[in-house]
Amino acid sequence: MLGLELERIYKDFGSTRAVEPTDLEFREGELTALLGPSGCGKTTLLRMIAGLEAPSGGAIRLGGQEITARPAHKRRFGMVFQSFALFPHLNVQENIVYSLVIAGIPKAEALQKGARLLDLVQLGAFATRRIGELSGGQRQRVAIARALAQEPAVFLLDEPMSALDAKLREDMQVELRLLQQRLGITTIVVTHDQREAMTMADQIVVMSQGRVEQVGAPKAIYDRPQNAFVADFIGKANFFDAVIEGSRLRVGAALIAAGELRFVSGAEVCVALRPESPYLDTAEVEGTQLSATVTFVRDVGPVRDIHLDTEIGPMVVECSRGETGRDFVVGQRTQVTLPAAALHVFPREQRRAA
Ligand code: ATP
Repeated sequence: MLGLELERIYKDFGSTRAVEPTDLEFREGELTALLGPSGCGKTTLLRMIAGLEAPSGGAIRLGGQEITARPAHKRRFGMVFQSFALFPHLNVQENIVYSLVIAGIPKAEALQKGARLLDLVQLGAFATRRIGELSGGQRQRVAIARALAQEPAVFLLDEPMSALDAKLREDMQVELRLLQQRLGITTIVVTHDQREAMTMADQIVVMSQGRVEQVGAPKAIYDRPQNAFVADFIGKANFFDAVIEGSRLRVGAALIAAGELRFVSGAEVCVALRPESPYLDTAEVEGTQLSATVTFVRDVGPVRDIHLDTEIGPMVVECSRGETGRDFVVGQRTQVTLPAAALHVFPREQRRAA
């Protein structure tokens, strides 16, 4: 297993810059998710890493060795695509063994290896089934086993779960993550689904418009978004505009304590606040208290979203069941407390650009 490094790698398609110059490190044995909305350049970046797309500039290194110009088939990277790209006329075992035989492995050895791989992805009992007779999740496992058959140095997956329904997708995320950890293989997964990235990744690379917006562990990205785009794209957030006044935020007539700020007084900012951060109806938490009226209650099982009309505008507060002893009803007056540390403050122009 080897780590991978990108240095100032970028890609232009004619006059379109698909990926801005990017430096990234994919540490040995870790799973990295390339996460961002449609068109942000994540697939192009993955394809450059795979050798399927020539970069317009920059360097790719594997275990310290430059591989930028090495053709895809000589990189020994395993790939799983959105479509799985299996051979429909071959059965499960043949799909895996065929790729091994093509790679020059003698048939008997390929059969043995194929059987081991099918056990690894829990498809041993399905060896002679045709691809058309498998569920989406089973097909995905065949695609994974086939990619692993090459003993890849790096494992690349492009939206591997997108063909699966929601429940199966969640199961497969856990399964794939456990398999990746067991094999200790350096893995890069392209996804636009932040829950998928948070579930599986050691490191998330958040991208937008061809740029890397933030790189970090899932929790760090969620707790400390570096800009308004990341705060909006990862998890949910309430946003409001404010003007800095010393260590406080002015929103209309209200002044909100904001902790440490890296802005001068008078600066126009936008503020992001996770819905689980404010407290409702308590005097025991430190923070700025605002009066509010309940406008809507969305009860979704384990959590309730309380929609509020507050002094500073509309806000959604997420309460876990049993967290507050009482029910909230539309029209009710309440107090919402905003802890200073929960306020993520960004330059206002970032919000306009996002
Ligand atoms: P999606 O999630 O929709 O697949 P993505 O984040 O993977 O999106 P890319 O497919 O990498 O995005 O595309 C990035 C940008 O480059 C887009 O503006 C896209 O239109 C453009 N692009 C991608 N491939 C080509 C190509 N072969 N020729 C011209 N432009 C391209």
